[in-house]
Amino acid sequence: MSHDPNCIFCKIVAGQIPSKKVFEDEDVLAFHDINPWAPVHLLVIPKRHIASMADVTDAEAALLGKMVALGPKLMKDLGVTNGFRHVINTGPDGGQEVYHLHLHVMGGPRPWLKG
Ligand code: 5GP
Ligand code: ZN
Repeated sequence: MSHDPNCIFCKIVAGQIPSKKVFEDEDVLAFHDINPWAPVHLLVIPKRHIASMADVTDAEAALLGKMVALGPKLMKDLGVTNGFRHVINTGPDGGQEVYHLHLHVMGGPRPWLKG
């Protein structure tokens, strides 16, 4: 399925729910997390609905590479100069809450980082 009408991130891609977008091309969208865990907390998502990393195949390798490589560029654009982390939560035990694949990219001054 390329668009799931019940999926909150598909609704963001379609513009049905507002978001603070920082980057968009034909394949991916990046926007600020609504409930940030860090001074700068972005979500990078594929525009096409993929539920989680558990659904990724070799066919998505280039797409995932693009998502991961976008992180450093966006952090630089947003003035994060001292480091950041990439996180992908997968499945219930991985802490995934939204079942549309998303990469968290979090940066900014470090006191927020625990564990
Ligand atoms: P997960 O736990 O699935 O890895 O993370 C889901 C993330 O999506 C959370 O950090 C949460 O704050 C964020 N999120 C959930 N709903 C929305 C929304 O409607 N807009 C935005 N910008 N972020 C959302
Ligand atoms: Zn979706």
